[in-house]
Amino acid sequence: ELETTIKEALKELNIKDINEGTSTGLNNFSNGEILESYSPVDGKLIGKVKTSTPADYEKVMESANEAFKQFRLIPAPKRGEMVRQFGEKLRKNKEALGKLVSYEMGKSLQEGYGEVQEMIDICDFAVGLSRQLHGLTMHSERPGHRMYEQYHSLGVVGIISAFNFPVAVWAWNTALAWVCGDVCVWKPSEKTPLCAVACQNIMAEVIKENNLPEGISCLITGDYKIGELLTNDKRIPLISATGSTRMGKIVAQVVAGRFGKSLLELGGNNAIIVTPDADLEMTIIGAVFGAVGTAGQRCTTTRRLIIHESIYDKVKEALVSAYKQLRIGNPLDEKNHVGPLIDKQAVELYNEALKKVVAQGGKILVEGGVLFGEGYESGCYVKPAIAEADNSFEIVQHETFAPVLYLLKYSGTVENAIAIQNDVAQGLSSAIMTNNLREAELFLSVAGSDCGIANVNIGTSGAEIGGAFGGEKETGGGRESGSDAWKIYMRRQTNTINYGVGVALSQGIKFHL
Ligand code: NAD
Repeated sequence: ELETTIKEALKELNIKDINEGTSTGLNNFSNGEILESYSPVDGKLIGKVKTSTPADYEKVMESANEAFKQFRLIPAPKRGEMVRQFGEKLRKNKEALGKLVSYEMGKSLQEGYGEVQEMIDICDFAVGLSRQLHGLTMHSERPGHRMYEQYHSLGVVGIISAFNFPVAVWAWNTALAWVCGDVCVWKPSEKTPLCAVACQNIMAEVIKENNLPEGISCLITGDYKIGELLTNDKRIPLISATGSTRMGKIVAQVVAGRFGKSLLELGGNNAIIVTPDADLEMTIIGAVFGAVGTAGQRCTTTRRLIIHESIYDKVKEALVSAYKQLRIGNPLDEKNHVGPLIDKQAVELYNEALKKVVAQGGKILVEGGVLFGEGYESGCYVKPAIAEADNSFEIVQHETFAPVLYLLKYSGTVENAIAIQNDVAQGLSSAIMTNNLREAELFLSVAGSDCGIANVNIGTSGAEIGGAFGGEKETGGGRESGSDAWKIYMRRQTNTINYGVGVALSQGIKFHL
C-alpha cells in the first residue's frame, strides 16, 4: 500500500527514474555522479538524481545572472503575482509533496503536510509584501532638498538547506527573494534531493506558463563541495545557509572573506523552564511533542527541561509515563508518534550521546535503543530517551540531532533557571511554563532568555511564518520568513535630491571656487 501511495505521489510530482537539477527548463545538463536517495522509512531506494559538476554550476550561474537582469525590471507586484501562482500550485500538490517529504525525510505525514502548508503561507505573505517593500522618507537639513531611501533587488541568492526541512526552508527564502526581484540558486541537502527536484518541477510550470526567464529558480545538487562553489562565488551577494553550526562557521568565514552577506540558521539547544507555577498538563504535552516530534530532528526540538526542585519528581514521573505511550514506526501511518532518524549515521550519533551522558555522570530515566524487526528494516528507528543530567556536561552543551531529552534541576528563583537556560553556546528557541506574570515577564525581558525565540506556555518547537525566525550566538543571528526579514534580500539606497538652486553642503560646510 505504501509503495502504491509513493509511486502515485512521485508521478504527480514529475519525478523520473533519473532526475536532474539545474535551472528550470534546462533539464539537460547535469553531468555529475548519480546520487541515490533511500527512504529512512523502509530503507528502499526512492529515486536517483544526477548531481552537478563545476561546469554545470557555471552554466547555472550564467542562466541565473541572465535571468536577474530581466527579472529585476518586472514590477514587484507582478513578481508577487508569480509567487501567488506558485502558492496555488503548491495547494494542488500539497498531498503528493507532503507524502514525499514524509517518505524521504522520515517526519510524520501530518508534519509533511505542515511543511507544504508553511510554503503556501509564506507565498501568501510574500504576495502582500510585494506591495509593501517600503523605505522611509526623511527631512533634509538643506533647503530645497529631499531625502529618501529605497530598496533595490540584490541579485543571485544562494540557498543552502538542511535535510530536516527539505522544502519549507527553500520556500521561506525564495518566496521573499522573488518578490524582492532576486533569482535563486538552491543547493539542497544531499539527503533529500528528490524533495528539491519536486519543488523545482512545480516552480518550472509557473515559469513556463508566464514566459519568465528560466534562471529565476535554479537547482544544483551534490554534497558540500558544490555548496562551496556557491559560498566562494563573488557573483552571489547573499548566501542563506541552514544547517549545523559546524557548517555555518565555515560558510560565514568564506562569505565574509569576500564581503558577501550571509543569513545563517544554525543549530539550537532549546530548553523549557518549568516553574512551580506551571500548568503541568500543558507542560507535559509541550515537552513531549517538543522532544520527540520529527524524532528530535527539528532545530527547535526541546533538548533540555529545566525543572524547579519542588516539582521535579512530579514532572519526571509524568514524563516517564507519557513516554510509555509513544508509538514508534512508519511516519506515514498516522497512529505513530515517532518516525525514523534520517540515516544510520544519525543513529550512531544518538547511541554515542546516550553513552556519553552516562560516562559524564548522568542517569538514564527512559532507556533508548535501536529498534529491529518487522517495520524497522531501515535500521533508523530509535526509542526516545530521557536522561537526568547537569547543564555543564559536554554532551548537554552539544546539539545531538535525535530524541534525547535532558532533565536539569534548579532551585531558588526563576533567575537561576534563566541562567542555566542561557548557559549554552546556541540561542535559537526557549520557553517558560508558568502562570506567574512576574516570572513570564522576567523571562521575556532583557535580563531573560537570550534566544531569538522565547515563548510562554507553549513549547520550543513549531513557529508561524508571520514572525521573524532565527536565533542568536552559535545559531548564527539570521532571521528568515515574516516581519521585516525581507530586508536582507535587498540592497538599501539613500537618495538626496536637490530641487533648489545652488549647492548647499551638509553640516553647513562652505566651499567656494
Ligand atoms: P549540515 O550542516 O550537515 O548540512 C546542511 C547543508 O549544508 C547541506 O546542504 C550540506 O551539503 C551543506 N554544507 C555542509 N558543509 C558545507 C560547506 N562547507 N560549504 C557549503 N555547504 C555545506 O546539517 P544537516 O544535518 O542537514 O541539518 C541539521 C542541522 O541543521 C541541525 O544542526 C539543525 O539545528 C540545523 N537547522 C537549523 C535551522 C534553523 O532555522 N536554525 C533549521 C533547520 C535545521
